[in-house]
Amino acid sequence: MHIVVTRGIFYKFNKYSDRAAIAFAYSEKYGNIKLFVPSIANKNSVLIRHIPGTIHLNYKPNSDLHKLITFHEDLNYAHYLDTPEIYTRLSMVFEMIHYAHAYSYDNTQPRAHMSNGGNDSNGENNGDSNDSNDSDNTLWYLLGRYNKDNPAKLTLYILFTILNQGGYMFSPWRCSSCGHTITVATDNHNGDVAGSVAGDVAGSVAGSVAGDVAGDVATINHEGEVHCALCTPQPHTITATDIASSNIKYIRTGVFLALQCFYHSHSYKSLEVDTALEHELLDLLFYHGANVLGHQLHSYRHYRLLMPPPKSG
Ligand SMILES: [Zn+2]
Repeated sequence: MHIVVTRGIFYKFNKYSDRAAIAFAYSEKYGNIKLFVPSIANKNSVLIRHIPGTIHLNYKPNSDLHKLITFHEDLNYAHYLDTPEIYTRLSMVFEMIHYAHAYSYDNTQPRAHMSNGGNDSNGENNGDSNDSNDSDNTLWYLLGRYNKDNPAKLTLYILFTILNQGGYMFSPWRCSSCGHTITVATDNHNGDVAGSVAGDVAGSVAGSVAGDVAGDVATINHEGEVHCALCTPQPHTITATDIASSNIKYIRTGVFLALQCFYHSHSYKSLEVDTALEHELLDLLFYHGANVLGHQLHSYRHYRLLMPPPKSG
């Protein structure tokens, strides 16, 4: 057992006894960590969720439960606590982190998932350049980038990054059935989408998806297979069982196109995310996240109650 220091963000506290708690944090050095908090009344460790700060802990090798010594929040991030647009979204980010990242056992292998499946996404997509190309730091770097202008888009990008780095992301590019690139239906599967996407996506119909397959609707199934507008099953062929068990989900093709922008910094930068598109992307990422992580995820449902999507005409 030795004392270590890392920056980190607490996101969940479970009561352990009258005075003790188990705290969950995402940390810069160790990824996800679980900490025993001996006395929550200790004046030196006032624990606040969802703000970056400095954690002193007793790190126990070969255990997934370490011991908190102190936490000091970084007041440069005070806006994380007083900006509803940020803190209402952080629950979604940390619920995904909680299930997508294993807890740190041993400092010889501090992180759980570090694959990267051949794309050019990294922290640079988010504006300011990230000096480090070390993908290990990408998630921590992104968690520190919230400002009053970017909460919707940054949250989506972080959720995407969590799934993508963990090897959990489905491909929004290729139709599982015909193998063609997912693109706007009228395009007959031809051409490179990335350039023209941003404009199309923002303005496009947000209407009722499942009812109307006018070529603008694709699907994703519970195994993460995407079917283009031409191959996607028509609603009348879908059984009640499929719908009830969420085996398949109808998604506007434009939502897949928006997701494709997340793989390239130039198209990501020009992507405009309005409230309708934000909800469609969250809905998709949480549908897939729940399937691939094998956990019920509730945070998006809660967020929807607080920040409802616009009424579709
Ligand atoms: Zn197809």
